Amino acid sequence: MRLLVVEDDPDLNRQLTTALTDAGYVVDRAFDGEEGHHLGDTEPYDAVILDIGLPKMDGISVLESWRRNGRVMPVLMLTARDRWSDKVQGFDAGADDYVAKPFHLEEVLARLRALLRRAVGHAKSEFECGPVRLDSRTGRVSVDGNPVKLTSHEYRLLAYLMHHNGRVVSRTELVEHLYDQDFDRDSNTIEVFVGRIRKKLGVDIIQTVRGLGYLLAAPGA
Ligand code: CA
Repeated sequence: MRLLVVEDDPDLNRQLTTALTDAGYVVDRAFDGEEGHHLGDTEPYDAVILDIGLPKMDGISVLESWRRNGRVMPVLMLTARDRWSDKVQGFDAGADDYVAKPFHLEEVLARLRALLRRAVGHAKSEFECGPVRLDSRTGRVSVDGNPVKLTSHEYRLLAYLMHHNGRVVSRTELVEHLYDQDFDRDSNTIEVFVGRIRKKLGVDIIQTVRGLGYLLAAPGA
């Protein structure tokens, strides 16, 4: 899952980015409204954390513009605690949820997980495909109840496929959602990661759909 953090406070931006990266997300960051607006308008993010008070272009204007341009990714806004009007304006502009400052990082992470699940119509934090289980809360993966250790790249790939279970996901989409903008994007690496995941899981739930991409399917289904 690839996220965008738009926050002008350098310390807060760093704290958020570190916590999100530790939690297994790929994170791009922006420090003002213009830069954030441009990234959110042109890159395919799975969710955005957007501060309301930003230099150059305020968060509400950024969000309104994204929604006008048809950008539908979930947006979690950061508001000042006493500014109820920010929250109302934010929701009206198309925000999906908010966290008031100062906040606990755990709350931001939990709200993000909920947004990411709901964006794909999934109510629980656990995902299943046949004997494979992925818990997006703990980042644990198991097969028939036995834990499987995946690297962060492998986990991200499997989590993305689990979130989009039921449809074919192209390699391009995976590259766009699993790497940040500075990464050398080579879709062959995806094939390598898929191979490693298949091997570690020991059950083949990732089907290659020739010319199109990958599709999750329970064995025997
Ligand atoms: Ca700010």
